[in-house]
Amino acid sequence: MPASLSPEPLLPLVGAHMSIAGGPVKALERGRSIGCTAIQIFVKNNLQWFAGPFAETEVARFRQYPDRPGSIFGHTGYLINLGTNKAEFLEKSLRSLHEELLRADQLQLPFLVLHPGAHLGEGEAAGLARVARSLDAVLRARPESRCNIALENTAGQGSCLGYSFEQLAEIINRCLFPERLRICLDTAHLFAAGYDLSTAKGFWKVMKRFDRIIGRDRLAAWHLNDSKSAFNSRVDRHEHIGTGKIGLEPFREIMTAPEFRAIPKVLETPKQADLKEDVKNLATLHGLTEKCHK
Ligand SMILES: [Zn+2]
Ligand SMILES: [Zn+2]
Repeated sequence: MPASLSPEPLLPLVGAHMSIAGGPVKALERGRSIGCTAIQIFVKNNLQWFAGPFAETEVARFRQYPDRPGSIFGHTGYLINLGTNKAEFLEKSLRSLHEELLRADQLQLPFLVLHPGAHLGEGEAAGLARVARSLDAVLRARPESRCNIALENTAGQGSCLGYSFEQLAEIINRCLFPERLRICLDTAHLFAAGYDLSTAKGFWKVMKRFDRIIGRDRLAAWHLNDSKSAFNSRVDRHEHIGTGKIGLEPFREIMTAPEFRAIPKVLETPKQADLKEDVKNLATLHGLTEKCHK
């Protein structure tokens, strides 16, 4: 049967964050080597501020790569902080995100996951307002962009914003381009921020809250990470699936519930270049679906 007539794309969409060292197409090769059907990439060196557009040859190789995973999306660099009141820092952040959007468009990525930002002592209300204004500035400057921004919930470490659904909703509500904003949920960050999803019942309670405060139609992706840090600790430390403080229950729900089938799910768990840890974590995740007959 031709792919276009099949009832749904290859599912589930599960994989891991992949390095683009050596060029973006390398991330696709790495993902394919371990059977990822979804991958997340940085669109440039995540510890550098700036990078011009990708070379056309690099873009062509990426776009024409055979056997592409069902979902490929981006994650913004770690230096970007849209919540800072320090003028030079903010200006660099805006320019950096602008360039990343351009690179993401070159690769035809549907969205870039973004940590909303940190207020660095200015206070949460001022920080949230600044994040929304910063998003306005970047999105206004690239009206032709097809790439959306997926705000990621954070663990709430330090002065990081976006650790509650209410804060994420506030950014969306304040932004002049809410139609360009989506959400990426990170299981470890939820848990560290005080959302107890360690049981199936707790997980669905959290989702109900998400639906009420933000709305399920915003959900663009899952970051599947267990947590090395304790519940409500506000500390962001990822652990291998099933070996951290969260346990397997929410991962079973996310892997098996039909409503998450089309939502890409990627690991951001510690790993070496040989990807052995990814292979093991992916096996754990797929194992959760085999024992379930939902
Ligand atoms: Zn992230
Ligand atoms: Zn994290």
